[in-house]
Amino acid sequence: MVVGFRGDTPEGVEPSGAKANHGSYQLPEGGPSMQILQRTLGSLQQYLCDIKESSTADRYRPDRCPLCQARCCFLAHGFYYRTVVHVEFDGSIPVRRYLCRLCRRTVSRLPDFVLPYLRHSIVIISLFLASRLLAARSLREAAQAAFQPNMPYQRGQFWVRRFRQQAAGLCAVLVSLTAVVTATDFVTRALQMLQASGWIAAHRFLFGELRMHLLGWPRFLIPSGAPISFPSRAPSS
Ligand SMILES: [Zn+2]
Repeated sequence: MVVGFRGDTPEGVEPSGAKANHGSYQLPEGGPSMQILQRTLGSLQQYLCDIKESSTADRYRPDRCPLCQARCCFLAHGFYYRTVVHVEFDGSIPVRRYLCRLCRRTVSRLPDFVLPYLRHSIVIISLFLASRLLAARSLREAAQAAFQPNMPYQRGQFWVRRFRQQAAGLCAVLVSLTAVVTATDFVTRALQMLQASGWIAAHRFLFGELRMHLLGWPRFLIPSGAPISFPSRAPSS
């Protein structure tokens, strides 16, 4: 598995000049953290209710450190907070962190309804992209379909542009999840395959198995979520 990480830094700048990711400005203590997904079965509200229960520290604890491969090595290490925009929600959510006793790095368990480095949930982004690119709605109509009637149109363009860049690669790997679609272009094909497999299920597969970002890694984390200049040794702190 490719260990791409530095999970909690903001990405680049949207065309509007606003930061593209407002989701995770607060760096975990002790340096960069690798994000792995936490499967969530209920709503965002249910996640918020569950996550602060002490029992989730054990329930969410990974079996194996994805960085040094040690087993049973994680100590609960509190939370970091990131902002999320979801249907009828715009606020911060806590994300559980763990500290590996062996390699001293932290791993955070990002709920699977959000994408690393992006503030808007997968539901919001998928509704927008399906409306804009499959149903050929206008940017404004697509924003309304995604419950974001007042969002700046540049944000939608930004999602569309990133999705277009990812479409061919998505088509190639999503055959592991769903039947091949015979659409004439990669964008339509990728969207139909995502609709068929479920966007969040696809995200779990792409990110969990392949370290692939549904909308493509931001430029400084290409190709797999690892910053190019990131040192291979463990941080000294
Ligand atoms: Zn470790």
